[in-house]
Amino acid sequence: MRTPLIAANWKMNPPPLGWDAADSPYRPRPDVDVIVFPTFLDLAQCVDAEMNTGAQCGHPDPAGAHTGDVSVAMVSDLGCTYVLCGHSERRQGHGETDAFVAREAQAALDAGLEPVVCIGETQEERDAGKERDVVQRQFAALPSDVSVIAYEPVWAIGTGKNATPEQAQEMHAFIRSLIAPERRASVRILYGGSMNEKNAKELLGQPDIDGGLIGGASLKSESFLKIVEVAADVGRA
Ligand code: PEP
Repeated sequence: MRTPLIAANWKMNPPPLGWDAADSPYRPRPDVDVIVFPTFLDLAQCVDAEMNTGAQCGHPDPAGAHTGDVSVAMVSDLGCTYVLCGHSERRQGHGETDAFVAREAQAALDAGLEPVVCIGETQEERDAGKERDVVQRQFAALPSDVSVIAYEPVWAIGTGKNATPEQAQEMHAFIRSLIAPERRASVRILYGGSMNEKNAKELLGQPDIDGGLIGGASLKSESFLKIVEVAADVGRA
């Protein structure tokens, strides 16, 4: 049984109103692993508030001449427990390659953090029928002991156009088939791409979808709460 995992990617935004309230939906709970990915500036306050906190990226080198970067080791020292690796906004906007993402994920594992690694195809790649090839290539570069993967079709991120539950399930099942047989049942595969309180039930109800990486809808605490509750219900069923 895989515990559902719902992660809030706040991107370059301040934490949403009410994020640290006593009944905040961003707080850890027993039935769903809830994680927040704030900006680097907000990591410390989320750690202090005892959230499950992750950085949105991290440099694999522990320290050195990397102007503007923060290392995976540094966010580990700060008390973070997760690192998001290879988000498409990092791959596309910051030139992160498969090899870099693999080093980042390995650095996270070495630092005792849980990497949440994003893979997924662009619209052009899907139109060309190459979505499986792309995902397979991105997956093949990763350390074999990564245990949380987020399938994020790039065309669905921030567009309001989510993958259909069938499209998502098909790709999740494909990704699961790439995982070594002895780890296949335990690796969690999250879906990310315009998940919201309306489509969460159908998406999270798919057998190979173990949770969600939520961007836009994670900035509204009521929407995020509904998604977390759907995950809890699906996990209970
Ligand atoms: C994301 O940034 O990982 C994401 C899935 O964003 P959105 O939910 O806004 O599509």
